[in-house]
Amino acid sequence: MKTFLSMLSAAVLVLAATTGWAAPKGETLVTTAQGDVTLYRIQHASFVLEWHGQTIYVDPTQGAEAYAGLPTADVVLLTHGHGDHLDSNTLNGLDLRKALVIMPQAVADEIGERFGHAQTIMANGETVHTDAGVGIHAMPMYHLPPSDDAYHPKGWGNGYVLTLADKRIYISGDTQGIEEMRDLDNIDVAFVCMNLPYTMDVEEAADAVADFAPAVVYPYHYRGQDTERFRELVNQREPEIEVRLRDWYAPR
Ligand SMILES: [Zn+2]
Repeated sequence: MKTFLSMLSAAVLVLAATTGWAAPKGETLVTTAQGDVTLYRIQHASFVLEWHGQTIYVDPTQGAEAYAGLPTADVVLLTHGHGDHLDSNTLNGLDLRKALVIMPQAVADEIGERFGHAQTIMANGETVHTDAGVGIHAMPMYHLPPSDDAYHPKGWGNGYVLTLADKRIYISGDTQGIEEMRDLDNIDVAFVCMNLPYTMDVEEAADAVADFAPAVVYPYHYRGQDTERFRELVNQREPEIEVRLRDWYAPR
């Protein structure tokens, strides 16, 4: 029996190696009064947070197999309708039966009401608390100056601030260094986008981050940008901010 099991696990390992199903490796994002938050990077703008028995998927893309080995989602946060954030194939492939799926109206207009009661529309400025204690506040995300024909018009998408016990985590979505970001207070960890022409350059991102001064910032959604330069600029103004550079584009 033991031999059979070890042969079986060897076969599973070989299968995992040949199909690329390896569970993403987690890292501790921050420690709250109710335990650690673990970060699993998927790619680009997609990641998963795990905290206190709750699993939060942010802009899931890359296919459901990219999430193999991770717990199923309790909360899904969708920021906006661009393809590197909203991917119907991935959403269709994931087990979202127990998930609260949060999105702006424009995303609901695009994908329809496929999630039934669990589908929650949030406008910029609204706040929701799940029964399991996850606080979610929808932030604006937009291009400057705001205009209806901008690549990201104001009100079309949501950034989010998550409250997990005593910690606050900011997820920028696709945006420039807007006032609402610069005015944020008490952010423990921030995920901030940077890449042109879709969001902002590293100079603007660094300037906005130095303004709201999170304890920790992760550049994400930065394809092709000089994140070392971002770190330098942030720390020139605010040496206390911990800039965590990670490879969000490693082949899986
Ligand atoms: Zn976008």
